[in-house]
Amino acid sequence: MSVKTQIEYLRRTLPEGVTLVAVSKFHPVEAIREAYEAGQRIFGESRPQEMAAKVPQLPEDIQWHMIGHLQTNKVKMIAPFVTLIHSVDSERLVAEINRQAERCGRTIDILFEVHLAEDESKSGWNIGELREFLAGGAMGQFTHVRPRGVMTIGTLTDDIELNKSEFRTLRSLFEELREQFGAEFDTVSMGMTSDYSEAIECGSTMVRIGSMIFGERDYSK
Ligand SMILES: *Cc1c(COP(=O)(O)O)cnc(C)c1O
Repeated sequence: MSVKTQIEYLRRTLPEGVTLVAVSKFHPVEAIREAYEAGQRIFGESRPQEMAAKVPQLPEDIQWHMIGHLQTNKVKMIAPFVTLIHSVDSERLVAEINRQAERCGRTIDILFEVHLAEDESKSGWNIGELREFLAGGAMGQFTHVRPRGVMTIGTLTDDIELNKSEFRTLRSLFEELREQFGAEFDTVSMGMTSDYSEAIECGSTMVRIGSMIFGERDYSK
């Protein structure tokens, strides 16, 4: 199925209030252009270098989302143009995004990446750590970042009930934090190709879909 067909299908079937991030990592600019021509404007990339290389080759009204693990020394590369960083997983990273945003005269929107899976290998805050960090009012000093919500990557499993329970947990954390941040804290980024329907059922407002739109990724490139 073509990229255009898939974009049109998603646009027709995603409920109102759910934003589609087309995850274009490892796919060439031609594929992104095809999605763009079908009306898609938000694209997600996981590697700063790849994103920075694609940006100048594509239309200026594209909104670029960073969804992959971000090292502090790479923030500089994307700070001039990135629209939303989904993968904010430490205070050090918040501080560096703030610093680079200020240098560019911008305010950058961020999501707190939350780690809900059992395995300890993945990145993201544990719920307790995030609550503790935010309760201290630590965000007050970072005037060039704007917290917009939370993000999680569901456990890689066939057990969809496990994913649903993770998604429900993230949604309720979001509601709790919204009390603190107010109405502009409006985003729950969860759901990918394999689990986006369940994520929406559990209160996702932003889905990150790659392979369903662009096909399999070739990691050898
Ligand atoms: C690659 C990626 C996706 C998209 O995954 P698909 O299974 O191809 O839809 C979503 N979120 C993150 C964080 C990713 O790295």
